[in-house]
Amino acid sequence: MDAEEFRRRGMEMVDYVANYLENIEQRPVYPDVEPGYLRSLIPTEAPLEPDNYDDIIKDVDRVIMPGVTHWHSPYFFAYFPAATSYPALLADMLCGAIGCIGFSWAASPACTELETVMLDWLGKMLNLPEHFIAGTHGHGGGVIQSTASEATLVTLLAARCKAVRRVQASNPEKSEAEILSKLVAYTSEQAHCSVERASLIGGAMIKKVPTDNNYAVGGDMFKKMLEEDKAAGLIPFYFCATLGTTASCAFDRITELGPICNKENIWMHIDAAYAGSAFICPEFRPLLNGIEFADSFNFNPHKWLLINFDCSTMWVKKREDLIGAFKMEPLYLKHENQESGKKRFRSLKMWFVFRMYGIQGLHCRWFKRFDNNPGYCKSKQHELYVFLPSCQGSNRLNELLLKRITKSREIHLVPCQLSGRFVLRFAICARTTDSRHIQQAWRHITQLTFEILQEPNH
Ligand SMILES: *Cc1c(COP(=O)(O)O)cnc(C)c1O
Repeated sequence: MDAEEFRRRGMEMVDYVANYLENIEQRPVYPDVEPGYLRSLIPTEAPLEPDNYDDIIKDVDRVIMPGVTHWHSPYFFAYFPAATSYPALLADMLCGAIGCIGFSWAASPACTELETVMLDWLGKMLNLPEHFIAGTHGHGGGVIQSTASEATLVTLLAARCKAVRRVQASNPEKSEAEILSKLVAYTSEQAHCSVERASLIGGAMIKKVPTDNNYAVGGDMFKKMLEEDKAAGLIPFYFCATLGTTASCAFDRITELGPICNKENIWMHIDAAYAGSAFICPEFRPLLNGIEFADSFNFNPHKWLLINFDCSTMWVKKREDLIGAFKMEPLYLKHENQESGKKRFRSLKMWFVFRMYGIQGLHCRWFKRFDNNPGYCKSKQHELYVFLPSCQGSNRLNELLLKRITKSREIHLVPCQLSGRFVLRFAICARTTDSRHIQQAWRHITQLTFEILQEPNH
């Protein structure tokens, strides 16, 4: 493909994408295919001779689209939102074209510098404490990660490194292996599974703190565990708090947890992957109170903030903690203006989106749309649009209902576990979802429930 053909095909692709997104509502949100469906539709080997572009595009419709779960359909209520917007898509294209690999400042100065500045912009939108802002002289700052899971892993590893150094400083006779075997991390029993996985990868023990009636962790429970573990000779080193848990959007009480962590030299990381975007709105910002105690904080603009995957933003209080834990300096990376490793030019997406919408445009673009919508019941901690219908039936009914919903392919939901119950979970995801879609979804769920209840052997 030469530049001339690229120009033509590029226009066609933009058209294809705009049509796809504009008419996505007409597609069944969930695909009607069985596992392994794709293999039989394409050859078993890559083509020896070049294929023709038109055939490739035809195959997108024949092979790919039938197997796509349409995350941007207004009837998609599963998992969590995946953000998208036209400015972000355009910026992504430019990112691909520049195609730099920004592992150091010299590898592409604009890539490294824009990322730092964009994380400052966003940090200021969230009104983060000053120590998270890099500015020109700050010790903290932000960096883009691919996922929240990665941010948790990176901070856990940095915390582990810091803890080993701290213990060794006062007990030089202790070996690293000995210290590592005593380290213990904590998180809520409602935390995302990636926290436990990070501890597995990091080779550190992890304990799950029980939650209260609102599925949140408070200071008391944590303190109790901490005292027991310290008495048993363990070394607490890391706590991952969640603001907006995946199952029910619960908020751990970081104003209670933070001071405990600070006092005990425990690294407090805050995972706000889902809910974090809301904190740019002044009315939701109080949910972030206590952030001043955190060593690191992460959320995913690729969930709610109009920036398409991947863009997970992470801030640390002390950059040195991260850089120090992972420092590698082969000669080919040495440069007098050394900076920590950055990757793709993902900050372009942030820059385009922030400028095209402005802070005001981003404020509550979505957050307010569903207030006073009669179709669902929301409880206090679920104000950020993960809804657990209060009218839930037995586990058996819910499981059956979910099967029917999935089979109908009109809307898409996933369940969650709460206090041993199988609960249907309804998350507002697509940018284009409005009250009409929610009411339609609710009618659909009610209708299916009614049908099940009418069945003789129910
Ligand atoms: C979505 C979510 C995650 C996982 O995010 P990834 O970026 O996919 O790793 C982790 N924690 C919470 C609270 C989430 O909502």
